[in-house]
Amino acid sequence: MTVSPVAIVTGAYRGLGLEAARQLAAAGHRVVLTARREAEGRAAAEKLAAGGADVRFAPLDVTAAESIRALRDMLKRDFGRIDVLVNNAGIFPDPSPGSPEASIFEAGLDTIRAGFETNTLAALRLCQELIPLMEGRGCVVNVSSGMGQLSDMNGCCPAYRLSKLALNGVTRIFADELQGTAIKINSVCPGWVRTEMGGPNATLSLEEGARGIVWAATLPADGPSGGFFRHGEQIPW
Ligand code: NDP
Repeated sequence: MTVSPVAIVTGAYRGLGLEAARQLAAAGHRVVLTARREAEGRAAAEKLAAGGADVRFAPLDVTAAESIRALRDMLKRDFGRIDVLVNNAGIFPDPSPGSPEASIFEAGLDTIRAGFETNTLAALRLCQELIPLMEGRGCVVNVSSGMGQLSDMNGCCPAYRLSKLALNGVTRIFADELQGTAIKINSVCPGWVRTEMGGPNATLSLEEGARGIVWAATLPADGPSGGFFRHGEQIPW
């Protein structure tokens, strides 16, 4: 008997995380939808489950080490091993792009630190704690951004840009240390997507944006690792 793969998605009660959870469940995964807002997370999971999806909620504040450890312990107890980790939770800590306050000259170091804490270090810690539960095979997706591309680094929004740039480094380091295993880890830019973060003028729907995340979460055995992708196509760092 084949058992359905287990997928964990962070920051998943709304936006790209929720849509990635929905698409992964539709593709046959048992999904653990996590969020730090318990009521919203539980309601989102129940809504997907009501439609027949195998989705359950687990509380997770990605910046809290004890919250990550509690999730790891639950996963080990209830599932034994996991197949997919989508590090989706993220913040845009800078002032509005285009405003003078979004200049690097104005950036407070506390804002930069906040970006690193959620967008970089939380994903790093989740990889440390959850990749061992993959027992040598699985897919990790670090949801990054074109704003973190060194090849396209422009002015404005240093807290977000630097945190995603460093997240891409996290992807590369894990990928190298995971060589010889069947675990793939990649960074994905979803494109500019209509979410709370992306805003109403973004060019892509949730469904379109999440597709590239789910692609990287469901790679075949000979799929890539240690790369940066948008819509399934490799992009420069
Ligand atoms: P949203 O703002 O809609 O979603 C972000 C999610 O992250 C929310 O559920 C939020 O929950 C959660 N989150 C933030 N901090 C934490 C935390 N400490 N613990 C748990 N959850 C947390 O944005 P998107 O859906 O657009 O963003 C998803 C990812 O996609 C992010 O990593 C973002 O950087 C990336 N991205 C988005 C783009 C876009 O155009 N939309 C473009 C490129 C990348 P809460 O309400 O509790 O804060």
